[in-house]
Amino acid sequence: RDVQTMTELRDLYQAVILDHNNNPRNYGKLTLANRHAEGVNPLCGDQVNVFFRLGDDVSVKEVGFEGRGCAICMASASIMTETVKHLSVVQADQYVTAFCSLAVGENSDVTGRLDLSTLKILAGVKAYPARIKCATLAWHTARSALSKGGASVTTET
Ligand code: ZN
Repeated sequence: RDVQTMTELRDLYQAVILDHNNNPRNYGKLTLANRHAEGVNPLCGDQVNVFFRLGDDVSVKEVGFEGRGCAICMASASIMTETVKHLSVVQADQYVTAFCSLAVGENSDVTGRLDLSTLKILAGVKAYPARIKCATLAWHTARSALSKGGASVTTET
């Protein structure tokens, strides 16, 4: 398999952002949500609400998001929902950890059993350090909804 060049990765990154920003997946409030959290990134003006409906087996039956913000934030939220849908909460959390590591240019130590192909493309954001918080906001918000009782998330403390 050919090694992807930086240019190819950048083109893939742009295409994925455009696709998900233009056609966000799982967009909208879940009426039957039993988990919810809000996240804000004041530096960019991004704001996202993440909703989950967890089943009795503690897996993600449904996931949705609403919000407003830049294309990277909205696309990343869309990709997050696609990634964690139908997973157990434990698996979903592993993907959150993996993506947040990739986005800052670190290898994740939980990559073994995870399919990270799309997340590695999205992690192309690391070439644009000012936008990393845009890309990780929805993931931190999802983690709060799933594991921290839905506390609000901000990128700035
Ligand atoms: Zn942003």
